[in-house]
Amino acid sequence: MGSDRVVLATRNAHKVAELNRILRSAGFTGELVGLDEFPGAPDVPETGSTFADNALLKARAIAAYTRLPAVSDDSGLTVHALNGMPGILSARWAGKHGDDRANLELVLGQLADIDGREAAFVCVAALALPDGSREWTATGVLPGSLTRAPRGANGFGYDPIFVPDGMTTTTAELAPADKDAISHRGRAFRAIAPVVAAL
Ligand code: IMP
Repeated sequence: MGSDRVVLATRNAHKVAELNRILRSAGFTGELVGLDEFPGAPDVPETGSTFADNALLKARAIAAYTRLPAVSDDSGLTVHALNGMPGILSARWAGKHGDDRANLELVLGQLADIDGREAAFVCVAALALPDGSREWTATGVLPGSLTRAPRGANGFGYDPIFVPDGMTTTTAELAPADKDAISHRGRAFRAIAPVVAAL
């Protein structure tokens, strides 16, 4: 059982290693490769309106390009008091893609006068086949709440202001392995792993 080669739609070696570990635990015996093996792979614009839309757009395009089953993910922070935003706009909430500090400062400012701090990290993992015949998605959620000031130096993005439910530390104060064990991305990858292993 299992497809020989599966591609993960990322150039981040850390993400490839993380999904590889999770797939092995689910019985996957093939080879997981990242986009470093496909230098000409297209940069897929995230034009969807949900995490699932964006993850599927990426998985479909990368499966078509590589002719391999493709896994992708899209993730972000959803804030209850902001009607679920920043959501799919998490990476560019303050206007410029990838300005983590400006993004989290903007969210803190928007919530300055609001007591309800509930939020969640959400990740949708998608799997698409190269012939376009089938596709799957799985969602991973890490519920928590937002602090009033950043704490911690690990992680990225909104980690310094996010405290998982049942914890007192922000995800930027957790050791990377401890964050991986509970993360939305780990949860989504673990949910889709049995499907990949059974291809
Ligand atoms: P993506 O790369 O399109 O999935 O966008 C993810 C964006 O959501 C990142 O740039 C971060 O702003 C935010 N985000 C997603 N996962 C995390 C996380 O684990 N910690 C902190 N921020 C995250």
